[in-house]
Amino acid sequence: MRISDTQLELVNKQIKALTAADNFYGRKLKEAGITGVDSPEAFEALPFSEKDDLRGAYPLGLMTAPEEKIVRIHSSSGTTGLPVIIPYTAKDVEDWAIMFARCYEYAGITNMDRIQITPGYGLWTAGIGFQNGAERLGAMVIPMGPGNTEKQLQMMQDMGSTVLCSTSSYALLLSEEIEKRGIKNKIKLKKGVIGSERWSDKMRNTIATSLGIELYDIYGLTEIYGPGIGINCKYNTGMHYWDDYLYIEIIDPVTLKPVPDGQPGEIVITTLVKEGAPLIRYRTHDLSRIIPGQCPCGSRHPRLDTIMGRTDDMMKIKGVNVFPRQIEEILQAFPEASSEYQIRISHLDGKDTMRIYVETNGSVDFLDLANRIATKVKSVIGFTPLVKVVENGLLPRSEKKTKRVIDERYD
Ligand code: ZN
Repeated sequence: MRISDTQLELVNKQIKALTAADNFYGRKLKEAGITGVDSPEAFEALPFSEKDDLRGAYPLGLMTAPEEKIVRIHSSSGTTGLPVIIPYTAKDVEDWAIMFARCYEYAGITNMDRIQITPGYGLWTAGIGFQNGAERLGAMVIPMGPGNTEKQLQMMQDMGSTVLCSTSSYALLLSEEIEKRGIKNKIKLKKGVIGSERWSDKMRNTIATSLGIELYDIYGLTEIYGPGIGINCKYNTGMHYWDDYLYIEIIDPVTLKPVPDGQPGEIVITTLVKEGAPLIRYRTHDLSRIIPGQCPCGSRHPRLDTIMGRTDDMMKIKGVNVFPRQIEEILQAFPEASSEYQIRISHLDGKDTMRIYVETNGSVDFLDLANRIATKVKSVIGFTPLVKVVENGLLPRSEKKTKRVIDERYD
């Protein structure tokens, strides 16, 4: 998805504002002697922005519009070091609400819906993003914020909530509680709008079946407005994103060059009309791919695949970029295999080797299953791994996140 002339024009306006504000990106541009871009090639030569650049601008160094135009700040929750502060103008707040309302519309939600919002409010962008979009749409908001499951379920019944906005883990917890209490007949939920953390198809199916609702993945990050910059439609063929507000490229996180549509890589986002804190070529470190072609819904907005993980998860084996999710998806197609697996990468006799350990839950021919999996993996990633099938329960489990990839090459 190459950048269009209209998008290039908007980028030039962002470049002008950033240069005038003389913030970190404005200075990067000046150092590189760049005053504008007139072609996709020139755009691809623009420097990237990184989270560390944003941290370095703490507290208000990202502010690109004059102070009197700034109406609000949000902050991304940094686990280490300084947080990132993003200033918003009134127009930024409005644009975000327009995008978010569009997300609800793509999910078939209308002004007759009652939307229960469980993500947090405050410095974080989640709760208020869900709320502004819903109000823009004209729906009724039930602004719960997180936690207090007792009260959530009470309001859900009394208010007749039809839409649940939540993280996948909280949606799962609520669905289990509803089942446990036997109150499913009192719940009117029809749809769930779920923040796009990485979640398995298994979890998605569990929530959808137990609550009897349709689920929609919403994408976004605080650095770029917040949640609401993309969502899947009812055809569920990836998340449509709003290319009139953002330009998205997928790059190879190692070579930093854009990859062709359909290939997985890192999502890099450029804001097109942001005033408070425009960002050019911001590296999200989220992994996905652009889905080529048109969606059956007829929307002209391009699509991103479900987030496959973070660039830190990526493995480079035999010169090929491999993501754990690719292996996971292949294994899901084998009902004989359990959901547990382990990948070990080693370097033997000058060559990279990938071994995949798989558990089986049936009485199958281990060797035959291993061969079938190896053939399938080769067809997807381009080389044949060593696959070893073991008895169910032999692979390590942990209460927290199980370590599934062990790279022994650099030990
Ligand atoms: Zn669609």
